[in-house]
Amino acid sequence: MHKLFIGISKLWGVAESAGMVKYGLAMQAVDCLEHAWIWVHNGSIYKVGIMSDLSESTQSALQNRITSTAHDIAGKFVFNDDFQGFEFSMLVCLGNKEVMPGFVDSHTHIVFAEPRTEEFKLRIQGAGYEAIAAAGGGILNSARKLQGMSFDFLLTEAKKRLHWMVAHGTTTVEIKSGYGLTVESELMMLRVIAALKAEFPGIIRSTFLGAHAFPLEYKGREEDYVQLIIDTMLPAVVQENLADHVDVFCDRGFFSAEQTGRILTAAKSYGLPGKIHANELGITGGVQVAVANNAWSADHLEYLGEQEIAEFAKSVSAEGGETVPVALPGCSYFLGIPYANTRALIKAGLPVALATDFNPGSSPVCSLQMVWSLACTQQKMLPSEAFNAITCNAARALRLEKNVGSIAPGMDANFITTSTLNALDTIPYFFGKNHIEDVFIRGNRFN
Ligand SMILES: [Zn+2]
Repeated sequence: MHKLFIGISKLWGVAESAGMVKYGLAMQAVDCLEHAWIWVHNGSIYKVGIMSDLSESTQSALQNRITSTAHDIAGKFVFNDDFQGFEFSMLVCLGNKEVMPGFVDSHTHIVFAEPRTEEFKLRIQGAGYEAIAAAGGGILNSARKLQGMSFDFLLTEAKKRLHWMVAHGTTTVEIKSGYGLTVESELMMLRVIAALKAEFPGIIRSTFLGAHAFPLEYKGREEDYVQLIIDTMLPAVVQENLADHVDVFCDRGFFSAEQTGRILTAAKSYGLPGKIHANELGITGGVQVAVANNAWSADHLEYLGEQEIAEFAKSVSAEGGETVPVALPGCSYFLGIPYANTRALIKAGLPVALATDFNPGSSPVCSLQMVWSLACTQQKMLPSEAFNAITCNAARALRLEKNVGSIAPGMDANFITTSTLNALDTIPYFFGKNHIEDVFIRGNRFN
């Protein structure tokens, strides 16, 4: 089915060809077409152009269809020799709005039982995240809550959160397990993600995060839990084909760099790439072990030294590509911990990405617009840099840059319309407002 999208005052995030990634200071540039159209065929972008490319009669025929309210017109439309004489079965007027690629959230934990508001209040009164975790709260608290829940309950709740994300402009999502911490519960979480994948029209990627925390019953024999992950959980996950990547929380009080390395090596033997949690609580070798194992990304990075930045920079020339640094400013905001030094990472020529880390303990934020604003105000990223970090570079963190994250022929027809003028600057400026009006995934409006 051929559809023609018109009524686009500005089209942001345009690329010459599929697969755009922005490295270093190139992140400051965002290509934009004014008075654009998008030709969509079977859910993919076939061609992109501007009105003035077309003959005058086609321009005026299309102009007559453009109003300030978005609407679809079904029928049979042929525009002389324009569009190679093709017949469209639908015209979609986007309401003369600014349009951009759907956002890509490369790091979330949206399958969970319930919020941890009790810890929220404890932290407001002065308790630290690590102290709460050491007392059996934090991730272990979520694991306890999840173990009593049914598959159906978890699926219903996760779907609700996924729809919040889409309403805020996200059309591609990575989701992790990690609140199970037993073989059965981890598999159940991953099956919930598989069920979301099966019905969601956009791309969902699944990550096995059995190594999220050590369960209390493994206290003093942590090695046994590492072996359980490697010998039992991982093979079971692979057997059911439930994961696209493997994650480890490599940090102080959690998994050591050495343990992380062993888990990533085991994952690699099944062909599963790593995406790890690194340097949230301190400098503990997470970046080094991620790069040494060709992990696709290392996420968090609230604590970064020169050596870590040099490791990331070294990875750019690695076979299989770089380890993408992913910052999660929602977590810094919510926990009151430092923000990742993304300025230094950009200066080092890296393709920095941003994600929500949407989870019940440290970052209960569904909106990449909010993350965009935090990156600008707290990490001193320009609006354009942060835009690239939630679109094409976030896609790179999932190795999906040829499918999503920019507007070019061959890419999935995932785009969003915004209610604001000069969207690139004003979305992070008017923080807290949802600027997204319509969301299209594979060329269809998502309701
Ligand atoms: Zn996380």
